[in-house]
Amino acid sequence: MKDKMVFATKNANKITEIKKILTDQFEILSLRDIGFEEDIDETSDTLEGNALIKSSLIYKRFNLNCFADDTGLEVETLDGLPGVYSARYAGEENNAEKNIQKLLENLKNKSNRNARFRTVISLIINDKEIYFEGIIKGKISKLKKGSMGFGYDPVFIPEGYKKTFAEMELDEKNNISHRAIAMQKLINYLAITHRI
Ligand code: IMP
Repeated sequence: MKDKMVFATKNANKITEIKKILTDQFEILSLRDIGFEEDIDETSDTLEGNALIKSSLIYKRFNLNCFADDTGLEVETLDGLPGVYSARYAGEENNAEKNIQKLLENLKNKSNRNARFRTVISLIINDKEIYFEGIIKGKISKLKKGSMGFGYDPVFIPEGYKKTFAEMELDEKNNISHRAIAMQKLINYLAITHRI
């Protein structure tokens, strides 16, 4: 029988993505699969803290190995903001359009447009806590471009590219993204320790 492991997310796209990769050794369960419908308050002021809040809550309550992720867009000239507050930068409603407008407004007249996406995954497996980090560097464009992806994708141009994440097909973005890098590190770790 396969080991069960929970990915503590409600995001169906993230679940589909990871299931494609981890099916051989682990049966990946979503929060819905384990009947967990509550909202988890992400009260930490770090990505590591919020990822750990999610993974440890599920690990303790369900006694199942678990991992969770948290991501932020860190802008150099804004001292790393919006960072852990990326989803609610322009208000609690998590409105991507408003978040982008606020970001572009705050970067008006700034020549330094360096930014990076950073994903942190917290894994708790057999009582052991491990973190994996994925970073992609880039720049914030002056105007929105593209219609694919989500969040800040229309204004993020990854290093070495001339187009935004929102101008990329999903597969192209997934090959280089912050989340993909962190996920690959998680998979490499499991491959070594659990022979997936
Ligand atoms: P989460 O931790 O994955 O829920 O991400 C928090 C917030 O960061 C999202 O609501 C988005 O605003 C932003 N974000 C995370 N990942 C991406 C991405 O791949 N592209 C654009 N924005 C993202």
